[in-house]
Amino acid sequence: MDAAVPEPTAPDLAVPDLAVPDLAVPDLAAPDLTVIERARILAKAALFAPPAPIAADGRRDLVGLSRAELAQALAETGEPAFRAKQIWHWIYHQGVTDFARMSSIARPLQEKLAQRFVIGRPEVAADQLSADATRKFLFRFRDGQEAETVYIPDRHEDRGAVCISSQIGCTLSCRFCHTGTQKLARNLGAAEIVGQFMAARDAYGEWPSPKGETPRLLSTIVLMGMGEPLYNFENVAKAMRIVMDHEGIGLSRRRITLSTSGVVPMMDRAGAELGVNLAVSLHAVRDDLRDELVPLNRKYNIAEVLAACRRYPGASNARRITFEYVMLKGVNDTEADARELVRLIAGIPAKVNLIPFNPWPGSAYETSSRAAIERFARIVMDAGFSSPVRSPRGRDILAACGQLRTESERRRRA
Ligand code: SAH
Ligand code: SF4
Repeated sequence: MDAAVPEPTAPDLAVPDLAVPDLAVPDLAAPDLTVIERARILAKAALFAPPAPIAADGRRDLVGLSRAELAQALAETGEPAFRAKQIWHWIYHQGVTDFARMSSIARPLQEKLAQRFVIGRPEVAADQLSADATRKFLFRFRDGQEAETVYIPDRHEDRGAVCISSQIGCTLSCRFCHTGTQKLARNLGAAEIVGQFMAARDAYGEWPSPKGETPRLLSTIVLMGMGEPLYNFENVAKAMRIVMDHEGIGLSRRRITLSTSGVVPMMDRAGAELGVNLAVSLHAVRDDLRDELVPLNRKYNIAEVLAACRRYPGASNARRITFEYVMLKGVNDTEADARELVRLIAGIPAKVNLIPFNPWPGSAYETSSRAAIERFARIVMDAGFSSPVRSPRGRDILAACGQLRTESERRRRA
Protein backbone atom coordinates (compact mmCIF):
# COMPACT_ATOMS: atom_id res chain seq x y z
CA MET A 1 0.00 0.00 0.00
CA ASP A 2 1.13 3.51 -0.65
CA ALA A 3 2.06 4.26 2.94
CA ALA A 4 2.52 8.01 2.63
CA VAL A 5 -0.73 8.80 0.87
CA PRO A 6 -3.69 8.33 3.18
CA GLU A 7 -6.86 6.73 1.94
CA PRO A 8 -9.38 9.18 0.57
CA THR A 9 -11.90 10.14 3.16
CA ALA A 10 -15.24 8.75 2.07
CA PRO A 11 -17.52 11.59 1.04
CA ASP A 12 -20.60 12.00 3.11
CA LEU A 13 -23.19 10.25 1.04
CA ALA A 14 -26.20 11.38 3.06
CA VAL A 15 -28.73 12.27 0.41
CA PRO A 16 -30.76 15.37 1.18
CA ASP A 17 -34.48 14.88 1.61
CA LEU A 18 -35.76 15.15 -1.94
CA ALA A 19 -39.22 16.18 -0.80
CA VAL A 20 -37.81 19.39 0.61
CA PRO A 21 -35.14 20.48 -1.84
CA ASP A 22 -32.46 22.51 -0.16
CA LEU A 23 -30.56 24.41 -2.80
CA ALA A 24 -27.73 25.14 -0.38
CA VAL A 25 -26.89 21.44 -0.16
CA PRO A 26 -24.60 20.37 -2.99
CA ASP A 27 -25.43 17.25 -4.96
CA LEU A 28 -23.64 14.73 -2.82
CA ALA A 29 -25.38 11.82 -4.46
CA ALA A 30 -22.88 11.90 -7.31
CA PRO A 31 -19.58 13.18 -5.93
CA ASP A 32 -16.79 13.15 -8.45
CA LEU A 33 -14.36 10.84 -6.76
CA THR A 34 -11.68 11.64 -9.31
CA VAL A 35 -11.80 15.29 -8.37
CA ILE A 36 -11.58 14.41 -4.69
CA GLU A 37 -8.72 12.00 -5.33
CA ARG A 38 -6.81 14.55 -7.38
CA ALA A 39 -7.22 17.20 -4.71
CA ARG A 40 -5.92 14.74 -2.13
CA ILE A 41 -2.89 13.83 -4.26
CA LEU A 42 -2.05 17.48 -4.88
CA ALA A 43 -2.46 18.34 -1.18
CA LYS A 44 -0.10 15.50 -0.30
CA ALA A 45 2.42 16.68 -2.89
CA ALA A 46 2.36 20.13 -1.32
CA LEU A 47 3.45 18.63 2.02
CA PHE A 48 6.65 17.52 0.32
CA ALA A 49 7.20 20.81 -1.49
CA PRO A 50 10.77 21.78 -2.40
CA PRO A 51 12.46 24.74 -0.75
CA ALA A 52 12.08 28.13 -2.46
CA PRO A 53 14.53 28.49 -5.35
CA ILE A 54 16.69 31.09 -3.69
CA ALA A 55 20.48 31.09 -3.52
CA ALA A 56 22.28 31.21 -0.16
CA ASP A 57 22.95 34.95 -0.66
CA GLY A 58 19.24 35.64 -1.14
CA ARG A 59 19.25 36.01 -4.92
CA ARG A 60 16.32 34.44 -6.69
CA ASP A 61 16.79 31.68 -9.25
CA LEU A 62 15.23 32.53 -12.60
CA VAL A 63 15.31 28.91 -13.77
CA GLY A 64 12.03 27.12 -13.24
CA LEU A 65 9.83 30.23 -13.42
CA SER A 66 7.03 30.18 -15.95
CA ARG A 67 7.16 32.93 -18.57
CA ALA A 68 4.52 34.88 -16.62
CA GLU A 69 6.49 34.52 -13.38
CA LEU A 70 9.68 35.62 -15.10
CA ALA A 71 7.91 38.70 -16.47
CA GLN A 72 6.57 39.41 -12.99
CA ALA A 73 9.99 39.02 -11.35
CA LEU A 74 11.49 41.42 -13.89
CA ALA A 75 8.59 43.85 -13.59
CA GLU A 76 9.31 44.05 -9.86
CA THR A 77 12.73 45.43 -10.78
CA GLY A 78 11.09 47.92 -13.16
CA GLU A 79 11.81 46.06 -16.39
CA PRO A 80 9.34 46.05 -19.29
CA ALA A 81 7.68 42.87 -20.55
CA PHE A 82 9.94 42.39 -23.58
CA ARG A 83 12.87 41.75 -21.24
CA ALA A 84 11.27 38.49 -20.16
CA LYS A 85 11.28 37.25 -23.75
CA GLN A 86 14.91 38.31 -24.16
CA ILE A 87 16.08 36.71 -20.93
CA TRP A 88 14.06 33.55 -21.52
CA HIS A 89 15.95 33.16 -24.79
CA TRP A 90 19.31 33.58 -23.05
CA ILE A 91 18.45 31.10 -20.34
CA TYR A 92 16.75 28.35 -22.32
CA HIS A 93 17.94 28.82 -25.87
CA GLN A 94 21.51 29.92 -25.34
CA GLY A 95 21.92 28.15 -22.01
CA VAL A 96 23.91 30.97 -20.39
CA THR A 97 24.29 31.03 -16.63
CA ASP A 98 26.02 34.40 -16.46
CA PHE A 99 24.19 37.68 -17.03
CA ALA A 100 27.46 39.17 -18.36
CA ARG A 101 27.13 36.92 -21.41
CA MET A 102 23.74 38.35 -22.36
CA SER A 103 25.15 40.52 -25.12
CA SER A 104 21.83 42.04 -26.15
CA ILE A 105 21.48 43.56 -22.68
CA ALA A 106 23.34 46.71 -21.65
CA ARG A 107 26.04 46.31 -19.04
CA PRO A 108 24.29 48.32 -16.26
CA LEU A 109 21.20 46.13 -16.57
CA GLN A 110 23.31 42.96 -16.62
CA GLU A 111 24.80 44.11 -13.33
CA LYS A 112 21.45 45.00 -11.84
CA LEU A 113 20.06 41.59 -12.76
CA ALA A 114 23.10 39.81 -11.34
CA GLN A 115 22.59 41.59 -8.04
CA ARG A 116 19.10 40.19 -7.70
CA PHE A 117 18.99 36.94 -9.61
CA VAL A 118 20.93 33.81 -10.44
CA ILE A 119 20.54 31.33 -13.29
CA GLY A 120 21.05 28.19 -11.28
CA ARG A 121 22.24 24.68 -11.99
CA PRO A 122 22.38 21.72 -9.66
CA GLU A 123 25.86 20.89 -8.50
CA VAL A 124 27.45 17.73 -9.93
CA ALA A 125 27.98 15.47 -6.89
CA ALA A 126 29.01 12.48 -9.02
CA ASP A 127 29.51 11.89 -12.72
CA GLN A 128 30.10 8.30 -13.83
CA LEU A 129 30.68 7.11 -17.35
CA SER A 130 29.92 3.48 -18.12
CA ALA A 131 31.90 1.40 -20.56
CA ASP A 132 28.78 1.42 -22.77
CA ALA A 133 28.72 5.27 -22.74
CA THR A 134 25.75 5.51 -20.40
CA ARG A 135 26.49 8.39 -18.08
CA LYS A 136 25.03 8.79 -14.65
CA PHE A 137 24.99 12.08 -12.78
CA LEU A 138 24.19 12.58 -9.17
CA PHE A 139 23.00 16.16 -8.86
CA ARG A 140 23.03 18.01 -5.55
CA PHE A 141 20.52 20.75 -4.90
CA ARG A 142 20.80 23.79 -2.63
CA ASP A 143 19.53 22.01 0.47
CA GLY A 144 22.02 19.16 -0.02
CA GLN A 145 19.46 16.67 -1.34
CA GLU A 146 20.60 14.60 -4.28
CA ALA A 147 18.91 12.99 -7.28
CA GLU A 148 20.05 10.90 -10.20
CA THR A 149 19.95 11.76 -13.88
CA VAL A 150 21.11 9.32 -16.53
CA TYR A 151 22.05 9.90 -20.13
CA ILE A 152 21.42 6.80 -22.23
CA PRO A 153 22.87 7.14 -25.72
CA ASP A 154 21.21 5.39 -28.60
CA ARG A 155 23.28 2.45 -29.75
CA HIS A 156 23.03 3.28 -33.41
CA GLU A 157 22.51 6.99 -33.85
CA ASP A 158 23.88 10.21 -32.41
CA ARG A 159 21.02 10.79 -30.06
CA GLY A 160 19.85 9.60 -26.70
CA ALA A 161 17.51 9.91 -23.76
CA VAL A 162 17.96 11.87 -20.58
CA CYS A 163 16.31 10.04 -17.72
CA ILE A 164 15.16 12.58 -15.17
CA SER A 165 14.10 12.25 -11.53
CA SER A 166 10.93 13.82 -10.22
CA GLN A 167 11.23 13.14 -6.48
CA ILE A 168 13.94 12.43 -3.94
CA GLY A 169 12.96 8.93 -2.89
CA CYS A 170 9.47 7.56 -3.50
CA THR A 171 6.45 6.70 -1.38
CA LEU A 172 5.45 3.71 -3.45
CA SER A 173 7.81 0.89 -2.40
CA CYS A 174 7.62 -1.27 -5.53
CA ARG A 175 9.30 -4.47 -4.43
CA PHE A 176 11.92 -4.66 -7.19
CA CYS A 177 12.87 -0.97 -7.19
CA HIS A 178 15.82 0.39 -5.27
CA THR A 179 14.36 3.91 -5.12
CA GLY A 180 11.34 2.31 -3.47
CA THR A 181 13.55 1.47 -0.49
CA GLN A 182 14.20 5.17 0.07
CA LYS A 183 11.76 7.26 2.04
CA LEU A 184 10.39 10.21 0.14
CA ALA A 185 12.58 13.12 1.26
CA ARG A 186 10.76 15.67 -0.83
CA ASN A 187 9.49 16.57 -4.26
CA LEU A 188 11.77 18.21 -6.76
CA GLY A 189 10.91 21.74 -7.83
CA ALA A 190 10.42 22.84 -11.44
CA ALA A 191 13.86 24.47 -11.38
CA GLU A 192 15.42 21.22 -10.21
CA ILE A 193 13.60 19.10 -12.78
CA VAL A 194 14.42 21.31 -15.75
CA GLY A 195 17.82 21.94 -14.14
CA GLN A 196 18.75 18.26 -14.48
CA PHE A 197 18.28 18.44 -18.23
CA MET A 198 20.11 21.78 -18.47
CA ALA A 199 23.05 20.55 -16.42
CA ALA A 200 23.25 17.42 -18.59
CA ARG A 201 23.31 19.68 -21.63
CA ASP A 202 26.13 21.68 -20.05
CA ALA A 203 28.09 18.44 -19.66
CA TYR A 204 27.66 17.59 -23.34
CA GLY A 205 28.19 21.17 -24.58
CA GLU A 206 24.81 21.11 -26.29
CA TRP A 207 23.90 24.77 -26.16
CA PRO A 208 22.38 26.64 -27.89
CA SER A 209 19.16 24.68 -28.23
CA PRO A 210 18.70 23.25 -31.71
CA LYS A 211 16.11 24.97 -33.87
CA GLY A 212 13.14 22.91 -34.97
CA GLU A 213 13.45 19.17 -34.72
CA THR A 214 17.15 18.80 -35.47
CA PRO A 215 18.17 15.99 -33.15
CA ARG A 216 20.97 16.39 -30.71
CA LEU A 217 22.66 13.88 -28.46
CA LEU A 218 20.27 14.77 -25.66
CA SER A 219 17.25 14.38 -27.89
CA THR A 220 14.54 13.01 -25.62
CA ILE A 221 13.46 13.17 -21.99
CA VAL A 222 12.12 10.20 -20.10
CA LEU A 223 10.65 10.84 -16.67
CA MET A 224 11.80 7.46 -15.44
CA GLY A 225 14.30 8.40 -12.77
CA MET A 226 13.74 8.50 -9.04
CA GLY A 227 10.18 9.04 -7.90
CA GLU A 228 6.63 8.98 -9.19
CA PRO A 229 6.13 11.99 -11.49
CA LEU A 230 2.35 11.98 -11.07
CA TYR A 231 2.77 12.44 -7.31
CA ASN A 232 4.59 15.68 -8.09
CA PHE A 233 2.44 16.75 -10.98
CA GLU A 234 2.52 20.54 -10.61
CA ASN A 235 6.30 20.78 -10.59
CA VAL A 236 6.74 18.15 -13.31
CA ALA A 237 4.14 19.87 -15.50
CA LYS A 238 5.71 23.28 -15.02
CA ALA A 239 9.15 21.92 -15.87
CA MET A 240 7.85 20.14 -18.97
CA ARG A 241 6.09 23.30 -20.17
CA ILE A 242 9.42 25.11 -19.90
CA VAL A 243 11.21 22.34 -21.77
CA MET A 244 8.57 22.34 -24.52
CA ASP A 245 8.52 26.13 -24.99
CA HIS A 246 9.40 26.86 -28.62
CA GLU A 247 11.56 29.85 -27.81
CA GLY A 248 13.74 27.92 -25.44
CA ILE A 249 14.73 24.28 -25.22
CA GLY A 250 11.92 23.48 -27.62
CA LEU A 251 11.61 19.73 -27.16
CA SER A 252 8.31 18.60 -28.62
CA ARG A 253 5.89 16.64 -26.47
CA ARG A 254 6.60 13.66 -28.70
CA ARG A 255 10.12 13.62 -27.37
CA ILE A 256 9.02 13.41 -23.75
CA THR A 257 7.80 10.26 -22.04
CA LEU A 258 6.31 10.25 -18.57
CA SER A 259 6.40 6.95 -16.74
CA THR A 260 3.90 6.24 -14.01
CA SER A 261 3.24 3.30 -11.76
CA GLY A 262 -0.44 3.97 -12.40
CA VAL A 263 -1.68 7.06 -10.57
CA VAL A 264 -5.00 6.88 -12.38
CA PRO A 265 -6.59 10.22 -11.42
CA MET A 266 -3.52 12.12 -12.60
CA MET A 267 -3.05 10.19 -15.85
CA ASP A 268 -5.99 12.02 -17.35
CA ARG A 269 -4.56 15.37 -16.33
CA ALA A 270 -1.13 14.55 -17.73
CA GLY A 271 -2.75 13.64 -21.03
CA ALA A 272 -5.00 16.67 -21.22
CA GLU A 273 -2.51 19.27 -20.02
CA LEU A 274 0.84 18.04 -21.29
CA GLY A 275 0.06 15.53 -24.02
CA VAL A 276 3.40 13.84 -23.56
CA ASN A 277 3.96 10.15 -24.30
CA LEU A 278 2.79 7.88 -21.55
CA ALA A 279 4.60 4.84 -20.17
CA VAL A 280 2.85 2.68 -17.61
CA SER A 281 4.67 0.33 -15.27
CA LEU A 282 2.46 -2.72 -15.48
CA HIS A 283 4.81 -5.55 -14.46
CA ALA A 284 2.07 -8.07 -13.69
CA VAL A 285 -1.14 -9.30 -15.28
CA ARG A 286 -2.97 -10.44 -12.15
CA ASP A 287 -4.05 -8.12 -9.38
CA ASP A 288 -2.76 -10.37 -6.61
CA LEU A 289 0.77 -10.29 -8.04
CA ARG A 290 0.65 -6.62 -8.99
CA ASP A 291 -0.58 -5.81 -5.46
CA GLU A 292 2.69 -7.27 -4.28
CA LEU A 293 5.08 -5.87 -6.91
CA VAL A 294 3.50 -2.43 -7.33
CA PRO A 295 1.61 -1.82 -4.09
CA LEU A 296 -0.23 1.15 -5.61
CA ASN A 297 -2.27 -1.52 -7.40
CA ARG A 298 -4.27 -1.94 -4.21
CA LYS A 299 -5.60 1.54 -4.81
CA TYR A 300 -5.76 1.60 -8.64
CA ASN A 301 -5.98 -1.91 -9.96
CA ILE A 302 -5.07 -3.28 -13.37
CA ALA A 303 -8.55 -2.72 -14.82
CA GLU A 304 -8.59 0.92 -13.68
CA VAL A 305 -5.07 1.56 -14.98
CA LEU A 306 -5.92 0.05 -18.35
CA ALA A 307 -9.16 2.03 -18.54
CA ALA A 308 -7.12 5.22 -17.98
CA CYS A 309 -4.80 4.11 -20.79
CA ARG A 310 -7.74 3.54 -23.13
CA ARG A 311 -8.94 7.09 -22.61
CA TYR A 312 -5.48 8.70 -22.65
CA PRO A 313 -5.77 11.59 -25.09
CA GLY A 314 -3.56 11.48 -28.12
CA ALA A 315 -2.82 7.77 -27.93
CA SER A 316 -2.85 6.37 -31.45
CA ASN A 317 -0.91 3.93 -33.56
CA ALA A 318 1.55 6.70 -34.24
CA ARG A 319 1.77 7.53 -30.53
CA ARG A 320 1.52 4.33 -28.63
CA ILE A 321 1.39 3.88 -24.89
CA THR A 322 4.39 1.99 -23.58
CA PHE A 323 3.76 -0.75 -21.06
CA GLU A 324 6.84 -1.39 -19.00
CA TYR A 325 7.22 -4.93 -17.79
CA VAL A 326 10.16 -5.86 -15.60
CA MET A 327 11.18 -9.47 -16.20
CA LEU A 328 11.49 -11.26 -12.84
CA LYS A 329 12.61 -14.86 -12.93
CA GLY A 330 9.85 -17.27 -11.91
CA VAL A 331 7.58 -14.41 -10.85
CA ASN A 332 5.91 -12.84 -13.89
CA ASP A 333 7.71 -14.30 -16.90
CA THR A 334 5.73 -17.35 -18.03
CA GLU A 335 4.12 -17.83 -21.41
CA ALA A 336 0.73 -17.75 -19.69
CA ASP A 337 1.64 -14.30 -18.32
CA ALA A 338 2.51 -13.13 -21.83
CA ARG A 339 -0.77 -14.45 -23.24
CA GLU A 340 -2.76 -12.77 -20.49
CA LEU A 341 -0.86 -9.53 -21.10
CA VAL A 342 -1.86 -9.38 -24.76
CA ARG A 343 -5.44 -10.21 -23.83
CA LEU A 344 -5.51 -7.35 -21.32
CA ILE A 345 -4.07 -4.71 -23.61
CA ALA A 346 -5.97 -5.75 -26.76
CA GLY A 347 -7.25 -2.68 -28.54
CA ILE A 348 -4.88 -0.22 -26.84
CA PRO A 349 -2.38 1.36 -29.23
CA ALA A 350 0.58 0.07 -27.28
CA LYS A 351 4.03 -1.37 -27.23
CA VAL A 352 5.51 -3.47 -24.48
CA ASN A 353 8.93 -2.66 -23.18
CA LEU A 354 10.43 -5.73 -21.53
CA ILE A 355 12.99 -4.68 -18.94
CA PRO A 356 15.38 -7.31 -17.64
CA PHE A 357 15.38 -6.80 -13.87
CA ASN A 358 18.34 -4.74 -12.77
CA PRO A 359 19.56 -6.39 -9.56
CA TRP A 360 20.76 -4.45 -6.54
CA PRO A 361 22.18 -5.65 -3.22
CA GLY A 362 19.42 -6.97 -1.02
CA SER A 363 16.80 -7.25 -3.74
CA ALA A 364 14.62 -10.34 -3.60
CA TYR A 365 14.50 -11.06 -7.33
CA GLU A 366 16.55 -12.42 -10.18
CA THR A 367 16.53 -11.45 -13.82
CA SER A 368 14.58 -13.79 -16.10
CA SER A 369 16.64 -15.96 -18.38
CA ARG A 370 17.27 -14.80 -21.92
CA ALA A 371 15.21 -17.68 -23.20
CA ALA A 372 12.24 -16.75 -21.01
CA ILE A 373 12.44 -13.13 -22.11
CA GLU A 374 12.61 -14.15 -25.76
CA ARG A 375 9.64 -16.52 -25.41
CA PHE A 376 7.65 -13.79 -23.72
CA ALA A 377 8.61 -11.21 -26.36
CA ARG A 378 7.63 -13.58 -29.18
CA ILE A 379 4.09 -14.06 -27.82
CA VAL A 380 3.63 -10.31 -27.43
CA MET A 381 5.02 -9.69 -30.90
CA ASP A 382 2.86 -12.37 -32.49
CA ALA A 383 -0.16 -10.59 -31.06
CA GLY A 384 0.85 -7.50 -33.03
CA PHE A 385 2.58 -5.44 -30.35
CA SER A 386 6.13 -4.31 -30.71
CA SER A 387 8.02 -5.71 -27.72
CA PRO A 388 11.54 -4.37 -27.53
CA VAL A 389 13.70 -5.87 -24.82
CA ARG A 390 15.52 -3.06 -23.04
CA SER A 391 19.18 -3.87 -23.06
CA PRO A 392 20.80 -3.50 -19.67
CA ARG A 393 22.89 -0.35 -19.67
CA GLY A 394 25.44 1.04 -17.29
CA ARG A 395 25.72 -2.18 -15.29
CA ASP A 396 29.18 -1.07 -14.14
CA ILE A 397 27.95 2.21 -12.63
CA LEU A 398 25.32 1.22 -10.05
CA ALA A 399 22.69 1.08 -12.71
CA ALA A 400 19.57 0.40 -10.67
CA CYS A 401 17.84 3.70 -10.19
CA GLY A 402 18.50 5.15 -6.74
CA GLN A 403 21.66 3.16 -6.03
CA LEU A 404 24.04 6.03 -6.63
CA ARG A 405 22.16 8.27 -4.23
CA THR A 406 22.17 5.59 -1.52
CA GLU A 407 25.89 5.07 -2.04
CA SER A 408 26.55 8.80 -1.77
CA GLU A 409 24.50 9.03 1.45
CA ARG A 410 26.36 6.09 2.93
CA ARG A 411 29.71 7.71 2.15
CA ARG A 412 28.61 11.00 3.63
CA ARG A 413 27.46 9.34 6.84
CA ALA A 414 30.74 7.45 7.06
N1 SAH B 1 7.79 5.90 -10.69
C1 SAH B 1 7.64 5.77 -12.09
C2 SAH B 1 8.87 6.20 -12.87
C3 SAH B 1 10.19 5.83 -12.32
S1 SAH B 1 10.61 4.12 -12.35
C4 SAH B 1 7.25 4.33 -12.43
O1 SAH B 1 7.28 3.50 -11.57
O2 SAH B 1 6.88 4.11 -13.59
C5 SAH B 1 10.97 3.83 -14.08
C6 SAH B 1 10.84 2.38 -14.51
O3 SAH B 1 11.91 1.61 -13.99
C7 SAH B 1 9.58 1.71 -14.02
O4 SAH B 1 8.97 0.95 -15.02
C8 SAH B 1 10.10 0.84 -12.91
O5 SAH B 1 9.21 -0.17 -12.63
C9 SAH B 1 11.41 0.39 -13.48
N2 SAH B 1 12.35 -0.17 -12.50
C10 SAH B 1 12.53 0.22 -11.23
N3 SAH B 1 13.48 -0.53 -10.64
C11 SAH B 1 13.91 -1.42 -11.54
C12 SAH B 1 14.88 -2.46 -11.53
N4 SAH B 1 15.61 -2.71 -10.45
N5 SAH B 1 15.06 -3.18 -12.66
C13 SAH B 1 14.33 -2.90 -13.77
N6 SAH B 1 13.42 -1.93 -13.85
C14 SAH B 1 13.18 -1.20 -12.74
FE1 SF4 C 1 8.57 4.58 -7.06
FE2 SF4 C 1 8.57 3.94 -9.69
FE3 SF4 C 1 10.33 2.81 -7.97
FE4 SF4 C 1 7.75 2.17 -7.84
S1 SF4 C 1 9.15 1.80 -9.55
S2 SF4 C 1 9.10 2.64 -6.08
S3 SF4 C 1 6.78 4.12 -8.31
S4 SF4 C 1 10.21 4.97 -8.53
